Amino acid sequence: MTLRSILCAAVFSLTAAASAQAGSYTITHVTLIDGTGAAPKPDVTVQVEGERITLVTPSVAAGAPKGVVIDGRGKYLIPGMMDVHIHLRGWMPGRNADGSPVVDHKIAEQALASYIYDGFTTVVDVGNQPENSLYERAEERAGRIQSPRIFATGNLITYPGSHGDAMAVRISDFEKDKALLDKHIAEQQPDILKLTYDEEGWGTRPMITLMPTELLHQIIEYYNLHGIRTTVHISNEKRAIEAIYAGTDTLAHPVIQGPVSDSFVRLMAAKKTPFATTLTIGENYGRLADHPEFLDQPDYVASFSAAELETLKTETRAEYQKRAWTQWMKVMTPICLENVRKVVAAGGVAALGTDQSSGPAAHRELELLVQAGIPNLQAIRIATLNGAVFLGKAEDMGSVQEGKLADLVLLNADPIADIDATKNIALVMKAGQIIDESRLPLAGGVQKKRWPAG
Ligand SMILES: [Zn+2]
Repeated sequence: MTLRSILCAAVFSLTAAASAQAGSYTITHVTLIDGTGAAPKPDVTVQVEGERITLVTPSVAAGAPKGVVIDGRGKYLIPGMMDVHIHLRGWMPGRNADGSPVVDHKIAEQALASYIYDGFTTVVDVGNQPENSLYERAEERAGRIQSPRIFATGNLITYPGSHGDAMAVRISDFEKDKALLDKHIAEQQPDILKLTYDEEGWGTRPMITLMPTELLHQIIEYYNLHGIRTTVHISNEKRAIEAIYAGTDTLAHPVIQGPVSDSFVRLMAAKKTPFATTLTIGENYGRLADHPEFLDQPDYVASFSAAELETLKTETRAEYQKRAWTQWMKVMTPICLENVRKVVAAGGVAALGTDQSSGPAAHRELELLVQAGIPNLQAIRIATLNGAVFLGKAEDMGSVQEGKLADLVLLNADPIADIDATKNIALVMKAGQIIDESRLPLAGGVQKKRWPAG
């Protein structure tokens, strides 16, 4: 038995007796990487009561432990990780007879399971069929599914003919279409608004219609007046700057269309507008075309069914090998990595985002951040506290600090020595409850021996 399974067995008999109430836990003698970017602290004791962290202290100063004791010796504690740019799987091509989108809750819940299995306790869906993302958000908030916390935009909003308009509420005039915005706010209760502002799509596509800048400003202001933060899809530097001065709270991507200028780097460091990193989505084309063996890694085998993996390795791979898009992304990915590194090094605020829909993709994003030259400690902050900053919820989550939600990941190895240690998980805790991996609806099934047992 692994430590993880032993702990889960012990803990779940306790919580079952306490009728699913979160209990108390004390993690002792652990090396803490708290998510703020502070240096790792050895021999720390972290106490969790109910859904919150109630004590973080050097172990020598800790009193008697409360509740279940988790021996953290030789282990590393990080905050639950966050992916702030996903599009949850589960919506399918076509329409039902009544015109509603076709959704498959099982596929969505498998994707969510893969995130929490991989240590991601929060995801932000930034554009989806509301019948998919908002349904799962309600399920998660009611405690009916094992899932990361879900924050969601519902439908994104754009101008007719603009990027992403197939799944958007289309607004052509602020005054004339205000009722559509009111309906979106009332019916979908977006946690954050997503807009698109991009005439280029990504790369090799023909130019498309751009939302007028004044309209972008009006919509951002309107949502802010309703207490809702905003994120804007951009891909080039010019539109990124315009979106910031139109008032956006965050950007949904880094600059991808070319190398960033020094003045853009300075602006991002001065404004500290959080942006989602989204390196994985572009890199994935060349990776699958040239190195399909990555799909044999244990977290992919857990997260995808054998049939899906086979399709990826054959049909999808063949298609990617033929596409000009793949070549374009091979050229642009190193440029994008360097853009992200420069902005981070100057003091800009990156938050981990994949533009995908699985735990393994989110781990790939961490690998790419490190490949870009970002130190591991900072990459962990990008994957944790900065996600909370992106959401405007940094006082409540994102780091291991007293008073915050107890979203925690205990690792068997040191992620400062090797970022892949973030996959070597002993246990995942969300809101003070340990996730029982045996109950997760993973498409490929739990891989007991995915990493050397702790
Ligand atoms: Zn996206």
